[in-house]
Amino acid sequence: MSPVAPPTRRLPPWLKIRPPSGERYSAVKAQMGDGVLHTVCEEAKCPNVAECWGGGTATFMVLGDECTRGCRFCSVSTARLPAPPDPAEPARLADSLGKLGLSYAVVTTVCRDDLPDQGAGHLAACIRACRERRPDVLLEFLIQDFRGDEALLKVVADAGPHVLAHNLETVERLTPAVRDAKAGYGLSLQVLKALKRLAPAAKTKTSLMLGLGETQDELLKAFSDLREAEVDILTLGQYLRPTAQGRHLPVSEFVTPEVFDSLGEKARAMGFLYVASGPLVRSSYRAGELFLEGLLRKKAP
Ligand code: SF4
Repeated sequence: MSPVAPPTRRLPPWLKIRPPSGERYSAVKAQMGDGVLHTVCEEAKCPNVAECWGGGTATFMVLGDECTRGCRFCSVSTARLPAPPDPAEPARLADSLGKLGLSYAVVTTVCRDDLPDQGAGHLAACIRACRERRPDVLLEFLIQDFRGDEALLKVVADAGPHVLAHNLETVERLTPAVRDAKAGYGLSLQVLKALKRLAPAAKTKTSLMLGLGETQDELLKAFSDLREAEVDILTLGQYLRPTAQGRHLPVSEFVTPEVFDSLGEKARAMGFLYVASGPLVRSSYRAGELFLEGLLRKKAP
């Protein structure tokens, strides 16, 4: 669930980005400045912050800024017992959507294996607060696997987000080395399948990072597994190492834009509703949101 980072190897030209600036960027930064709301944009030093905040959008992170897991691509801090969820967060999140004038909001979360319901109730409260206070805003929630517990997935799905996302992150062979031991390739596919059944009106979405040593055949297998789980939306982006610390995996390859384009074409041919594929594409990606907004608003009653 955390896309990111600054590099420890020389970046190829296609990964060079312009520093953030501009009025809307500063407005979003000011809004986030008081630190009561977390964004994965900051936690993960996302390379797209200039584009997203400049476009007036951000990806919020709820349930705190410490995760009970330690995936080797993620820069979010890990803790065995993070602080309890803040009961005021749902209302604050809903208010921030208003203040930022968002029409499409992406909310992600850390894992809370320490909580009896792993945070499902708090997430549902966040969704409900946003839907009640900002019924005009489309909500995408990028969620954890709840260790496959369908009753907890149902708590979140019943709250009614428009898009339910859960990231597969990498191909099956690399999953044990890349993701936390509590995560799993089969488990994530099972979660995505369950979300489709539990929330038939919502779109389901997932994301894969490239450049960790996967082969194209392994990626195509992952695409077909995701289509079998009836996943609607797929994003493919370049893994970037968050820090030089040993816990973070090195980049094995900077995949070229041409390869991203060809993989995107192959994925589209498999029937995904929407595929965003490119070096700077992240799980929450502006272009994808605009497409989804168009699609969901056309369908809205
Ligand atoms: S589950 Fe993994 S990817 Fe998600 S916030 Fe925790 S450490 Fe990061």
